Amino acid sequence: MKRIGIDLGGTKIQGIVLAEEGRVLATRRAATPADSYPGTVAAIVRMVAELDSGSGETTDLPVGIGTPGIWMPERGAMKNCNSTWLNGQPLLTDLEHALGPRVRIANDADCFALSEAVSGTGRGHASVFGVILGTGVGGGFVVGGRLMSGPNGLSGEWGHTPLAYLGLHEELEMSAGSELDRRHEQANALESQLAVRTCYCGRPGCVETYLSGPGWRQTHRELWGDDVPTETIAKRRDERSEQTFFLYSRMLARSLAQIVNVVDPSVIVLGGGLSKVQALYQPVNEMLARYVFSGECDTQVKAPKLGAESGVLGAAQLWREDGG
Ligand SMILES: [Zn+2]
Repeated sequence: MKRIGIDLGGTKIQGIVLAEEGRVLATRRAATPADSYPGTVAAIVRMVAELDSGSGETTDLPVGIGTPGIWMPERGAMKNCNSTWLNGQPLLTDLEHALGPRVRIANDADCFALSEAVSGTGRGHASVFGVILGTGVGGGFVVGGRLMSGPNGLSGEWGHTPLAYLGLHEELEMSAGSELDRRHEQANALESQLAVRTCYCGRPGCVETYLSGPGWRQTHRELWGDDVPTETIAKRRDERSEQTFFLYSRMLARSLAQIVNVVDPSVIVLGGGLSKVQALYQPVNEMLARYVFSGECDTQVKAPKLGAESGVLGAAQLWREDGG
């Protein structure tokens, strides 16, 4: 069965037709009509019509749409969209009205997790936790090729949980006096200099305020008074940048350990801009066991395989036989 995938972003809308075996048969791209909800609905409907007519099928294809927010079925409205003109709007209802009951929508982080689980790094794993580390922090959880979802639409939203152990110094067994212990001791001292951050969601100490790109940059600025882009901090080899890098890796390992403790995924796949920082994977994997209950961890944190297309590919997977 061919399927249409649409990735609704803040600046552009991407669409594809995906063949059963996973080949992309057609692609479309259009600018998102910013600040116009009716314009956004019309642009999606237009793109679906184009993909339909070019597909060579006589019946309408199923459509999966990745959105920058959460669809609340009970309320019949979108929420938490950073494309704010979508918030409170009956997006799925309006699309079904225009396209028929062949539309499914999901959060873009969920689409990322699904695509990596079905055809990316997570392929062959029983369960996959997909993590977005970018301007924001989010995620999605896929078990047996199916996205986990619940009544609040919040599955995978670890970015708005409190950062684990924030303000609590690690007790170290210093007897070994290892280089690693020295680094953790330094990190304890540095972390105590950081102010507790208030998230845009209104709560203090959210993971997102520390582990997003802007959060990483803020940590470096607060510690050293040096305001430089995250990519620069990650590439630099001076002592200050290395300490910020260690602090970030440690916060990430601590946070991911909470996910392991709760849902114990077979693999964690990173996505978003910061997933490109290759130097993160080794230290985070090494540190994970330190924070997981029992002190052992077989779950690996891995790089994504699909890149920028993962959102639109995941959207098309929302109508898999065993997915959605
Ligand atoms: Zn928050």
